[in-house]
Amino acid sequence: MTQPTSSSFIEIVDLTKVYKMGEMEVHALRGVSLSIQAGEYVAIVGASGSGKSTLMNMIGLLDRPTSGTYRVRGTESQKLGKKAMSDLRNREIGFVFQRFNLLARATAMRQVELPLFYAGVSSRKSKQMATEALTKVGLGDRTHHRPEELSGGQQQRVAIARAIVNQPGLLLADEPTGALDTHTGEEILTLFEELHSQGLTLVVVTHDPEVAARAHRVITMRDGLILEDVAQLPSRPAVPAVVDVAPVPEAIVEAATEAFPTAQPRIVLETLDGVTA
Ligand code: ADP
Ligand code: MG
Repeated sequence: MTQPTSSSFIEIVDLTKVYKMGEMEVHALRGVSLSIQAGEYVAIVGASGSGKSTLMNMIGLLDRPTSGTYRVRGTESQKLGKKAMSDLRNREIGFVFQRFNLLARATAMRQVELPLFYAGVSSRKSKQMATEALTKVGLGDRTHHRPEELSGGQQQRVAIARAIVNQPGLLLADEPTGALDTHTGEEILTLFEELHSQGLTLVVVTHDPEVAARAHRVITMRDGLILEDVAQLPSRPAVPAVVDVAPVPEAIVEAATEAFPTAQPRIVLETLDGVTA
């Protein structure tokens, strides 16, 4: 097994992925190179079909690339067999999905204990670890609730507790707020920020500019390639930096600047429905 050669958590070089469907070939990734350092908070955005999920599956060791190299903490994943790859995944990576993916009948405690069971942790130790993880996401008083007895936001917190209970270095989230209302989504993003400040590396796939605005780096995918990769100051309100918005006519910006001298006119305008329509 290769030893870590750099501080990169993830090191991807010229990755391609071709899906074969009968005679047809879909080139989902066409040569992606990317490194993510431990402790980063990255958003991946882009139109539907641009390759975001394929890239996520590669980063998460859920699927293998057609060509290129991929290292997780210095370990080259292509050289690993199935078992070694799933061990690496279980140890290093936690997953959060849009639809929570909880077991319908299990208590919060059981959901969070499950990955520890697969990792061979003793029942006593796993109870303790699961309690800690649930407390960390603010559900210390809901450990015996089942999904139907929890709100959507609480269910996503259970899923996050399950993803971090093994103390992975990297959390991968695919549209984590997509099934939640704005306020609840906001709470989940605040929780992500807490986890990030405690050292967790975060990669979030999203089509929501408000979610992307909270990250420190935004990678935009197009047609299986990275179109743009920019560092940014994370912000709380929506900053439409990564979506196509109709440009606000200069005259309206000037008028708004006069009317709201202390505000940021473009943002004010873009949140006022119909003003620019
Ligand atoms: P995104 O997540 O950005 O919407 P995907 O990574 O899911 O994009 O898809 C990229 C391209 O690969 C699309 O053209 C999609 O249809 C195709 N694709 C994704 N998964 C498969 C698959 N399992 N089999 C065949 N084609 C796929
Ligand atoms: Mg997708």
